[in-house]
Amino acid sequence: MAARLIKGTEISKQIREEITQEVEELKQKHGLTPGLATILVGDDPGSKVYVGQKEKACNNLGIYSDRSDVSADTSAADLLEMVNKLNDDPKIHGILCQLPLPKHIDAERVIYAINPDKDVDCFHPVNVGKLMIGAGRFLPCTPHGIMELLRRSDITTEGKHVVVVGRSNIVGKPIANLMLQPSPGGNATVTLCHTGTKDMATYTRIADILIVAVGHPKTITADMVKEDVVVIDVGVNRIGKTPEGKAILAGDVDFDSVQEKASAITPVPGGVGPMTITMLMKNTVEAARASLG
Ligand code: NAP
Repeated sequence: MAARLIKGTEISKQIREEITQEVEELKQKHGLTPGLATILVGDDPGSKVYVGQKEKACNNLGIYSDRSDVSADTSAADLLEMVNKLNDDPKIHGILCQLPLPKHIDAERVIYAINPDKDVDCFHPVNVGKLMIGAGRFLPCTPHGIMELLRRSDITTEGKHVVVVGRSNIVGKPIANLMLQPSPGGNATVTLCHTGTKDMATYTRIADILIVAVGHPKTITADMVKEDVVVIDVGVNRIGKTPEGKAILAGDVDFDSVQEKASAITPVPGGVGPMTITMLMKNTVEAARASLG
């Protein structure tokens, strides 16, 4: 039987409605408009699209958006000065510098320069450390989106075996960490797989919930999962173009075969993807609320 689809597009829409109300409430009760600053260095087409989507989301939700596009040859010193100004700007509650940065700029230095209270991407080591000990103010956007997808689809993690494939700092490691926290939405037994894992299917086959973030299409096939597994496919891979020139996207999971065995699965597109920017907006509103003291 085909799996139930976990529809990120619909869940994201629902969360955005809630955010719109929260923003309105902050404006009405406290005269406070949440503000997000984005910095785009250079003109990488993919980064431009992402920054444009973030700006549009702010506009739709009533969040103030401050976008700075600077040339690819901007110096690290100038970029750090921009970050420092935004750190001091009371209209700005969230700051993000779109990655990747040009090679002459050390991304780590820029991330470290962002005030952790305004680090709505949750990349600063202070926030990463807080997440690790279960004391995070912000949760990183994609892992947070995954948690909301599970929660709002009534899929419990408590006592389950969650297998995460991929150990990146932005997806694999934080979602594995969140899944093992002794709190709602976590309390799972977690296995984290990567390219150094021998016979990975041994682990994926005993997953109750399988979260895949590797960046290669069809890494997970039907023979690698058990019946009734819940599958969260984070991957976004461009596997071709339509005759009209539009990118054809696929996840990291062989959707057609795996959905026959799974009890629930996220589609690509329309699964995890729509959640990421929504959770960025949520973090910006949280940061604004926290600024009230
Ligand atoms: P990444 O930084 O490239 O990390 C990929 C991870 O997967 C690495 O830890 C790598 O292991 C592991 N890996 C690669 N091939 C593997 C294999 N065959 N078996 C086991 N492990 C394997 O990627 P990322 O940033 O986490 O992104 C992963 C995917 O998610 C990409 O397609 C990306 O576009 C997508 N993504 C989507 C969203 C969204 O909003 N939907 C957000 C972020 C990322 P090693 O560490 O051993 O190299």
